[in-house]
Amino acid sequence: MGNTGNDILIVGAGFAGIGMAIRLKQAGIDDFVIIERADRLGGTWRDNTYPGIACDIPSHLYSYSFEPNPGWSRFFAPQDEILAYLEHCADKYGIRPHIRFGTSATGGSFDERTGKWTVTTGDGKTLSARVVVSGSGHALSKPVFPDVPGREKFQGKSMHSARWDHDYPLEGKTVAVVGTGASAIQIVPSIAARVGKMHVFQRTAAWVVPKPDREITAREQAMFRKRPQLQMLARRGIYWILEAMAVGYVVEPRLNRIRELRSLRFLEQSVRDPALRAKLTPHFRLGCKRVLFSNEFYPALQRENVELVSEGIAEIKERSIVTRDGKERPVDVIVYATGFETSEAKPPFPILGRGGVALAEAWRDSIEAYLGTTVPGFPNFFLILGPNCGLGHSSMIFMMESQFAYIVDAIKTMRAKRLKSVEVRREVGRRYNEKLQKRLAGTVWNQGGCASWYLTKSGKNTTAWPGFTFEYRLRTRRFDAGSYELAREDAAGRPAGLSGAAPAKIRPVA
Ligand code: NAP
Repeated sequence: MGNTGNDILIVGAGFAGIGMAIRLKQAGIDDFVIIERADRLGGTWRDNTYPGIACDIPSHLYSYSFEPNPGWSRFFAPQDEILAYLEHCADKYGIRPHIRFGTSATGGSFDERTGKWTVTTGDGKTLSARVVVSGSGHALSKPVFPDVPGREKFQGKSMHSARWDHDYPLEGKTVAVVGTGASAIQIVPSIAARVGKMHVFQRTAAWVVPKPDREITAREQAMFRKRPQLQMLARRGIYWILEAMAVGYVVEPRLNRIRELRSLRFLEQSVRDPALRAKLTPHFRLGCKRVLFSNEFYPALQRENVELVSEGIAEIKERSIVTRDGKERPVDVIVYATGFETSEAKPPFPILGRGGVALAEAWRDSIEAYLGTTVPGFPNFFLILGPNCGLGHSSMIFMMESQFAYIVDAIKTMRAKRLKSVEVRREVGRRYNEKLQKRLAGTVWNQGGCASWYLTKSGKNTTAWPGFTFEYRLRTRRFDAGSYELAREDAAGRPAGLSGAAPAKIRPVA
């Protein structure tokens, strides 16, 4: 009785969608479906396969708390292991039968009368659901190319870091890598030895620190298998070490001076040439942009066949790149390690809430959500890693797991109280975001003197969480029904106002 009509549609089968589904199952809820645009699960860890790709958060922590993996081969696992881990989780918890592959959400609209969402899909079908959970990568899923004159005229091979073409041989080629962010810093050392020549185009020098990576021995793996509590202990230790670093992000950015000095010493020890060192010296507070972990980036830049170019790209021609100083470098390949749509991001797909208002319209002036999860005017709609959930110091899986708990509790509340819909109160959302922005004003992202994707063009921080991750965990432990408008079903067990039969489980209706 309790779950009449409370059917759930999850969009996206990455870390967010799979984890959400597992947590629902564990809570005894299994009337959900996941739609996934690709033919394989994995999200960002499926799409990003560039050479050298690995996690930059220790894997004991960059994994679900309920499914430790004793088999990680390294402290920072490579992409193929992370993808295999996610597939293992989907299989172990019986999630795969719930996934409809090759199905993208193309639109969604909320019907106030029935309290249900109608979601259209790329194959022309329509799905009906009480609750929609978007796990489709609000940020970091849509590749961005730089707005450089002539880019479309280039006649050689171009690829984005997130769409690597493994069939294209780089051997002996002259390769341009545009960007020196978290992706580029992994790509450059991985391909430097096999390309003919490489020009790395840097716009802003980043803070680089040593990566404390190492192999996890077979003995350690066996120990973790035998005693899972030891791996949990390692996880907790890593969590608290990283959490301590949040102080320099969200409490007092000047404290990061200590890490800056260590990073500058690392640069000095790693790079002999003072001119190259000067080019690589950052001029903003550490943490303002993502801190990069690498033991190989500086050595790669000092190879005979590698050049760091910091003059800025003026133009791309048919077979070359011209910098602002007028120098032209012929290239065969351009690798764009230039990141993703983020703070200016649009809704994951076109969504119409109460009164037919588009989420894009509601977010036109400012992208915001309550707890990064719910949006006034969009009942029964939950975002995983929505606005202001991002971190500079720890694992995003931790943030997702907080949201899983919140959303599961919301759905359980809906079922227990026979609710047709839950919608965060506008006033609650407004107050929450006012406080959030006030706190963000003192953080390293807002104060650190850099231009980053954490901020919109107008300087608003729509991506970062302004506190410790345990604060977020505490705030999302329970669904705070008092912050929501609750609409009840009628006495007959149907959503109030609905005169037809009780809604069935998710099913194609067109
Ligand atoms: P990103 O951090 O946005 O970096 C993009 C890079 O491209 C920056 O260095 C940027 O320079 C540069 N760029 C943009 N336009 C340019 C131009 N016209 N000329 C020269 N350079 C230009 O993107 P990303 O490296 O792909 O990383 C995105 C995020 O993905 C990371 O912050 C991280 O959260 C995640 N990531 C994680 C891992 C992991 O190991 N877990 C690995 C890779 C990525 P400016 O600094 O001047 O803007």
